[in-house]
This record gives sequence, structure tokens and C-alpha cells, in this order.
Amino acid sequence: MRLRRVAGTEETLLSYNNWVVRSNDGLAGSWHNIFANDRPIHIEIGCGRGKFIAALARENPEINFIAIEVQGEVIVDAVRRVRKDFPANLRFFWQNAGEIDAHFNENEVDRIYLNFSDPWPKKRHAKRRLTHTGFLNKYKNILVNNGNLIFKTDGLPLFDFSLNQLLLAGFSLENVDRNYAGGDPETEYESRFRKQGKPIYRVISINKKYEEDLSMKYTSTRNSDLQVNAAHAIRSGLAPDGGLFVPTSIPKFKCDWNELAEMDYNTLAQIILGTYLTDYDAERIEDIVAKSYNAENFAHEAVAPLVTLNDNTEILELWHGPTAAFKDMALQIMPRLLVEAVKILGGDQEVDILVATSGDTGKAALEGFKNVDGIKVICFYPHNGVSKVQELQMSTTNGNNTYVVAVKGNFDHCQTAVKNIFGDNEFAARLSADNKEFSSANSINWGRLLPQVVYYFWSYAQLIKKGKLSAGDKFNAVVPTGNFGNILAAYYAKEMGLPINKLICASNSNKVLADVLETGTYDRRRDFVKTTSPSMDILVSSNFERFYYAMSNGDSKLVGDAFRQLSSEGIFTVPADILAKWQGFMLGGYAPEAEVEATIKETFDATGYTLDPHTAVALRVYEDYKTATGDETITVIASTASPYKFPKAVLHAITGEDKTFASEQAMLEHLAEVSKTEIHRGLMNLEEKPVLHNTVVEVEEMPAIVGKLLEV
Ligand code: SAH
Repeated sequence: MRLRRVAGTEETLLSYNNWVVRSNDGLAGSWHNIFANDRPIHIEIGCGRGKFIAALARENPEINFIAIEVQGEVIVDAVRRVRKDFPANLRFFWQNAGEIDAHFNENEVDRIYLNFSDPWPKKRHAKRRLTHTGFLNKYKNILVNNGNLIFKTDGLPLFDFSLNQLLLAGFSLENVDRNYAGGDPETEYESRFRKQGKPIYRVISINKKYEEDLSMKYTSTRNSDLQVNAAHAIRSGLAPDGGLFVPTSIPKFKCDWNELAEMDYNTLAQIILGTYLTDYDAERIEDIVAKSYNAENFAHEAVAPLVTLNDNTEILELWHGPTAAFKDMALQIMPRLLVEAVKILGGDQEVDILVATSGDTGKAALEGFKNVDGIKVICFYPHNGVSKVQELQMSTTNGNNTYVVAVKGNFDHCQTAVKNIFGDNEFAARLSADNKEFSSANSINWGRLLPQVVYYFWSYAQLIKKGKLSAGDKFNAVVPTGNFGNILAAYYAKEMGLPINKLICASNSNKVLADVLETGTYDRRRDFVKTTSPSMDILVSSNFERFYYAMSNGDSKLVGDAFRQLSSEGIFTVPADILAKWQGFMLGGYAPEAEVEATIKETFDATGYTLDPHTAVALRVYEDYKTATGDETITVIASTASPYKFPKAVLHAITGEDKTFASEQAMLEHLAEVSKTEIHRGLMNLEEKPVLHNTVVEVEEMPAIVGKLLEV
């Protein structure tokens, strides 16, 4: 907001020069000179007609008060109200809040008051609010470390917004009062609102100034001598030695649990991403998060709502994004992190994304990356190895930079071939000669994994908000997983301080993970089983490598050897002491097909809640765990897909019928009737969309088709 120059106001203010300082007066020295003493300085920003601050000044003669206001004529009014008995310890300052850091020394102000109701309730005006981070960051400079910023208002949306902005700017919340009884002087607005019986909201926050900004580094699970920054790790996807990038240390979450409970999803995402991506500009992260998690992409305002199933079981629905699977939580954001990484590193290469998908990742990646400048995405999936809906989702993808290829093999074949292409130096040289570079959208990419850490914190925020547990209480997390990425994100959350009691890793009949977690032997030499939860039909779980690295305290030799052995011999065994280390908190279990079906049916009958097969795997494993241990701890089940993604299996489980339907859409409509839920908007009328991709290749042909599509 500009300084308003109403005719005559400036002259009037000049004549008030005992009481008013004008921004163009050329402030000499510090405010202590103006007051001619060294008393503490408290300011109110946006003081209006000064009712609040004049009263404060009278009550506290030992403190100096400065009342800042952008509208000169309002100050004229304010002075007229108090001039008869003008407190010697008060000055009005005619200035815009956005400029105040130019008129105060650093650490000159001991306390800041803000009192206002929302003049600009529209979201696009958020930047004008005096509690926007743009302002808060300036206030921080002039406010002493540990100084208070006290904000009072009448509107809940503004209040919630402001709490989030304060947390983002690094203030801590000392006292949040949603029905402030009063005590400090009333503001003009406040008196009016109180008369109308409206609640007043007040927060006392503390300026945390000297918090160290750790610079995060990333290393490879197969070479802990390597050190790169986040942009490098995200741009490359895989480390040059074939290992995965991991942070060299896990930072602690900076807020306390009551603060967490005040946050919205985007604020939380910004804080967690900011902690790990220290080479990314905070404003860019804000922008990237806003473009990813919004009403256009996510059909639920909570982004990932927590739904109560029964007394101690909560379902974290991660599938309200465009493709109806949890991958959207990460894949809406990861392409943007990748494009930014290229910029941070000063490059202009085309980034070529190769994705191997067992069903969900493919579509989510295609949606996240489509039409993003500077990127091409090629997605491989097992021919006849994904559900009809999944196949349609992929083959109908539009976008000027997306390619979809079916492979005559299973997911492991696809993933191994993609890894081989990544590791092929000759291929890389051809690409680089053409100013191109490979990257990956699979959960081997750090940019894919990191956004998943956010929703475990989010589930905890919701548990506290719902009163399911108190700040600091522990909860269990159960995660259905094939590639170990989703549960690894939960592990990182736990390491950051999130009070997770047990992490329970749920597998379907492809139970390599359940086995290795129990026995310490990873053995992929077994038959690959096709299940109703195809996204977990995986025998080589890439992200287990990151977990092993963490459990071995960063022994990259041990980890590298183990995973090389896994690829050459199909098996490795971890030392007993490492096995013992994770068994204290990480458990595995699995659910055979018949039990998955039964769980969908029983849950539906008992609660009316419709589970998709992946979530049903998790619930089954959790219930087995509960029966075996008697553990009644509140438990969050990560729900990774909408039931509408797997309508056939879900309908069969609930109704016992195997009807044939005229179309996929007809089947979805039937499921909607049976389950009394709405069809996921991302899955509506897929068959009416044109099929744009129909290439089918042998596994051996994958490198050639990549070369052809990328024209190298
Ligand atoms: N604090 C007073 C007035 C609240 S109205 C009370 O509670 O009664 C908000 C005041 O903030 C208005 O007078 C408006 O002119 C002022 N204001 C808005 N934006 C400002 C800015 N950028 N810089 C300084 N003052 C601003």
C-alpha cells in the first residue's frame, strides 16, 4: 500500500511535529534519540485512530510507544483524539508497514502489536495483510530476538492465516487464544465486535531469530564420500554409482506439536521442504507448493483428510489428487522441484524422465509432468499387468511431452530395464551431446520421497485437532507398500521427531518386505504373484536400500555390496545387530488375497467405509498385529488409492458378484451405488477420452524405443 497523500494532510502532520514523525522527515539516529531515553520500544503497526496504543502508552509510562499508520488523514484524526493529554511516551509514525525496516535499527523494537480485522478477505489479496510473511520478515529484523509479536483480531480465517504465516516466518506460538477474554486495552474494532458477541482471537508469538539455517547435503547409499546439494540430488535422481541419494543427516522438525496442529497443509509442506531443500529459495518453494496443493488438483480441502474408521483406527486418505492415488501427493510437486533444480544448477538441459510403473506412478507422473517446459516423460508399464482403469488412465494422457509404452514383462522387468538405461554410459553420452539428461520420477528420486514425509506430520496434526490424542502422544503408522518408499517417508518423519510408536509395513502376497523385516534376509528369488493390489506387486523394493543405509549408520560399502549381490544373486542377509536395530520399531506383515477380500467386505459391512485393495492389505496386517500384541495405540492407516481405481476387485469383495459391465464407467457407477460414495472425479468417463498411446514392446526393445522417442 502506498502512502496516501490527501491534500493538506502533510502540512497538518508537520504542524504536529511533537507527536508525529513523517516518513520523509529524515530520521536522525535511533528512536531512542527522539524519546531522549533508553526505555524499551513497543510499536503497533496499522494503529488506525490509535485507541489501543494511546491507552497502552498511558498505562505504561516506562515504555516508549510508536504507532505506525499508512493513512495520514487517519493519523490526523488520531492526534485530534488524544492531543489534549498526549502521552510523552507516544509518537505516531506516518509510514507503510512494508518500509519500516528502513526506519528502525535492527533489534531496536522490543514488542510489536498488530490489531485489525480482515479488510481484504480475498485470497489473492493475502500479500496485503499485515501478517503476511512479506511483512513479518521485515518485522523480524527490527524486533529483538525472543521479542513478542502480539496479534488480535475478530475473524477466524484471518487468524488461522496469520498463525500459519507466523510459523512460516519462524515465529513460535507461545499462546493461542481463540476466545480472548480481554486484559490489554480494547481496540476500536474490538469494542464493536464484543458488543455483537463475537469472539476475539489473540496470539502471542515469539521472534526466533538466530535459528541456524543448516545447509543440507546429500550423499549416495553406495558412496558416503559423495556430497551434493538438494538440487543436484533431485536433478540426477540416481547417484552415479547406482546408489540412492539420502540426506547426510536428518534435521529435526522445528515447531512444537501445538504449532503443528495450527498449520494448514501448504504451510507444513513449505516448512518441511524448506528444511531439506536449503538451496531452494523460500519464495520459490512457496510458489511450487501453492501450484501443487490446491483445489484444482485436490478434490478435498484438507488435501489428505484423516477419516475415523473406529476407536483407534484412522484412515489417511492420500488419493484425492488428479489420478486417485497417493502418488499425486508427491508427483504434483516433484516436476516443479525438478525444473527448479535445473535452474538452480544454472543449466538449460532438457530433462527426460523415464518411469517404470506397476500402475499408479505412471499416470501420476504423466499428469504431474505433462506440458511442463523442458521435460519429456516416457512411461513403461507391464502389458496386461495393470488394471483396466490404470491402463486407460495412462493411454488417454494428453500433453505435448508424454509417451506411454506397454512392455511384455512384469514391473520388475520394466524397472530393471529402466535402471540399466540410466546406468548406460554410452546412452548418457548420446543424450548429453544433444543437451539432454535422464532423470527419474520413481520413488528413488529424493524429490519424490520428500513430499511424502509431509503427510505423516499432517496426520498427526489432524489427530491432535480431532482430540484423538494429545500433543506428544505416540501413534502407529501402517503403510501398504511395494517399493518401500511410502513407509520410508514415515521413517524419516519419525527421525525428524514425529512421535511414531510402531511403523508397520504391509505387503500383499509378494511379501519380500515382510520377510526381510522379520528375518533379515532379502530374497527376491521367488515367484512373482499377480494380486488385486498391483501397485505393490514388486519383488525389488528400491527404497529398502535407503533404510538399510540408515540402519547401518551410513555404511555405504555394506549397503552397496548387499544391493549388488541382490541384483546378481537375488539375495542378501543383513548382520544380526542391524536386524535387531529396526525390530524395535519397524515391523512387517502381509495379507494373502482371500484376506484382502474379506477385509474389504467386513469393513464395509461393519462401518460402511469402502477400502481399496491396497488399503485393505494395510488394515488386515494392522488387525493381525493388534490381535497378536494387544497394542491399542491410535493408528493411522495410509490409504494409497481410491476404491474407484480398482472397482472390479472392490465390487467383487463387497457383493460377491462378478458381473460384467457394458463399460468401465458403468462399473464405477455401480460401485458408487453400492458404496454410497461419489466416483472420483479423475476417473469419470475415461473411455470417452481418445486413446493416444498404444505402443507395445519387448523388454529388450526398451532402450531402442527410448532412443527413438528422444531422437538420439
Ligand atoms: N489497530 C486499529 C486499526 C485497525 S484497521 C484497531 O484495531 O482499531 C487497520 C489499519 O491498518 C488501518 O488504519 C490501515 O490504514 C492500516 N494499514 C493497512 N495497511 C497498512 C500498511 N501497509 N502500513 C501501515 N498501515 C497500514
